[in-house]
Amino acid sequence: MDPLYTPEGVEARWQDTWEAEGLYAAGAGARREETTFVICVPPPNVTGDLHMGHALNGSLQDILVRWHRMRGYDTLWQPGYDHAGIATQNVVEKELAKEGLTRHDVGRTAFVERTWEWLETTGRTIMGQFRRLGASLDYSRERFTMDDDYVRAVMTFFVRLWDNGWIYRANRIVNWCPYHQTAISDLEVEHVDVDDTLITIRYPFADGDGRDGISVATVRPATILGDVAVAVHPDDERYAASIGREVVVPYIERRVSVISDSRVDPEFGTGAVKVTPGHDAMDFDIGRDHDLPEPIVIGPDGLMNEAAGDLAGLAQKDAGGRVLAWAEERGLVEKREHYRHAVGACERCHSRIEPLVSLQWWCAMEELAKPALEALRERRVRYHPESQHRFAIASLEHAPDWCISRQLWWGHQLPIWYCADGHLTVQVEEPSACTECASSELTRDPDVLDTWFSSALWPFATLGWPAETPELARYYPGNVSSTAREIIRLWENRMIFSGLELRGEVPFTDVIIHSTVLAADGRRMSKSLGTGLDPMEPIEEYGADATRYGLLKNSSTQDVRYSIGAIEEGRKLANKLWNVSRLILQRAHSIGPEAVPRDLEERWILARIDSARAELEDGWARFAFASSTDVLYHLTFDDFCDWYAEAIKPRLYEDDPDAAATALAALERLLALLHPVMPHVTEEIWSQLPARETRLIVAPWPEPDARFAADAGALDRVQEAAQIFRRSGVEVELDTDDERRIFRAVVRPERAHVDGNRDAEIERLRKEVARGEGMLANERFVQNAPAEVVDAEREKLERYLRELAALGG
Ligand SMILES: [Zn+2]
Ligand SMILES: [Zn+2]
Repeated sequence: MDPLYTPEGVEARWQDTWEAEGLYAAGAGARREETTFVICVPPPNVTGDLHMGHALNGSLQDILVRWHRMRGYDTLWQPGYDHAGIATQNVVEKELAKEGLTRHDVGRTAFVERTWEWLETTGRTIMGQFRRLGASLDYSRERFTMDDDYVRAVMTFFVRLWDNGWIYRANRIVNWCPYHQTAISDLEVEHVDVDDTLITIRYPFADGDGRDGISVATVRPATILGDVAVAVHPDDERYAASIGREVVVPYIERRVSVISDSRVDPEFGTGAVKVTPGHDAMDFDIGRDHDLPEPIVIGPDGLMNEAAGDLAGLAQKDAGGRVLAWAEERGLVEKREHYRHAVGACERCHSRIEPLVSLQWWCAMEELAKPALEALRERRVRYHPESQHRFAIASLEHAPDWCISRQLWWGHQLPIWYCADGHLTVQVEEPSACTECASSELTRDPDVLDTWFSSALWPFATLGWPAETPELARYYPGNVSSTAREIIRLWENRMIFSGLELRGEVPFTDVIIHSTVLAADGRRMSKSLGTGLDPMEPIEEYGADATRYGLLKNSSTQDVRYSIGAIEEGRKLANKLWNVSRLILQRAHSIGPEAVPRDLEERWILARIDSARAELEDGWARFAFASSTDVLYHLTFDDFCDWYAEAIKPRLYEDDPDAAATALAALERLLALLHPVMPHVTEEIWSQLPARETRLIVAPWPEPDARFAADAGALDRVQEAAQIFRRSGVEVELDTDDERRIFRAVVRPERAHVDGNRDAEIERLRKEVARGEGMLANERFVQNAPAEVVDAEREKLERYLRELAALGG
């Protein structure tokens, strides 16, 4: 073995070897054929790069997959990509823009071809980056949501929902991007603060003298052209007498009613609001409940449309200016104030989102949601942590109907064909004639489906559904899904209801919602803010093992700040493990691993390894990745390297064959426990054990071994003595020869050159004990301080008492 461990080269070699030897493939190393363990990786955007969230999520999924593979399960970790409608279309449109072209210049067919070409050369980078992380996905089974088979699955799902009568077309308000000219989902809208002018305008009473009226405030005067009412809160005394009267909308001089609605916030502005159902989400709801018309005065391009009369074709800003000038002349403008507020912008092109009523396809949610809600309430699927389980239920209970159409060119075009008579033919394959009148003159609906419509099928469409393939029978349903909290509504819940609708079974039993990795200063990681960090950088610098270790150690159920310190700790751990392995292997020669412990520290380390195994199994089963990583750290760094290896060193140097055989057996188990977190360095060491023919990636996970459990605490007193000595230089009397020998071997007191003052140390400990007892006797402290603070105080007191006893004080 080289004296120093360098991940560079070693990691890539193992990644290539594992994949080439088929050890990432579904079923590799399976010894319990009847038990499968399946995770589908959340399909990343085909245009994207690995970000820190992917790296964390990939690491924790890989732990579960490697752990189950070692336990003999038939594991499948399914990889693949999402076609990511708007994101991909945007990238290709930007490429075209460099040539001075728009998608309309090249036309739909050529644009789609161009997108495919672009993907051939540039897309699909993330699976390569997952390989560099050591993620043991079955790359031979990579799927893409635009694969022919997958498209068939999407069409089949649509036709199924259509046949159930759950798909309908309706005018509703949507988030509209005027640049992309499509509806987009809430997740694709980013909220940005802008400076606006809030203008208060009086709408005179229709039956008054022009001086009386109701004043409303708006930042979008152009939308005044779409006003159909003025609304006030029913309990607002100021306006009680006005309800039912009519006011005149400025500029268009339309007479509209004053209505009451409890959704109006009486605290905002004047307490009265203009109602513009065509261009505001809340107004849309109010308008529907009051049976108001929905005039649309802004077109899909964001400019004023024909309904705006003489203002048609103007930009909103100019139209708003004309409306205000008109109102100003008549003395109706009462106030202009600076107003900073958040508005929606398209995440891709940053255009300001227009809430716009438009004709879209919708999927009714009521029937689809019911069985999914039941599954969540009965906990056949469980979100972790529990707070996210409650959120998932609540968001499904209140799920609005799903806007499934997008006015894009890149995606799954709706399987709806129209004949000249307006009949609809809906089927999976392109029809040759109208099913009603047999006309062969058919045009296909130009819309494509929401990207999430296809991702909802990921757990079974990747296995060949709608065909009844052997893979589908074997690997559906799966076990775990792991993702970030933003896509619970958009993705996780939809996989659950689609799985139930199409397969009659939930797609997995557990959903892990992992932490969001923030920048080190606590800001959101984002490319545009310049706070994004490329996970490939720490992987290059510290190695994939160290990066995985650091991300996991630092993870939680809350947001976490990126910590390079945790990654450095991972590198130190890999080095320490390398050095201790080198020591043992240099002394093992041709000896095979066998646990034949003679001395106390040997029984102790075997017991410690077994109890760490139990802790890991418990922790990983609960998805407690950070605390499990900590268990591995202490087992390796403290127990194995600092205590056991130091204590056994004299016997190893004497070439004691039993000591070497036991050390090898202990090392083997340690490597197995570490492997899911740090696969590369452990496999590299494993490959250097004597007569090694197997790979650690498929080696059996250690079986429980209770033989030495009684000795799990055997070094407690020595460790206490070491702590006292290192702190104060005072040597404690130990009871047994073993304890004294281990103390001398590990602590090496002769090197310390300190003369401890026993009496001073006893005095110091007594003070600490008195302080601790005082704290714990204080009921206010015990009742009000956080539980972990009180527990820590108790533990400290117990330790001081033990140390005091050890010193005979
Ligand atoms: Zn856009
Ligand atoms: Zn027809």
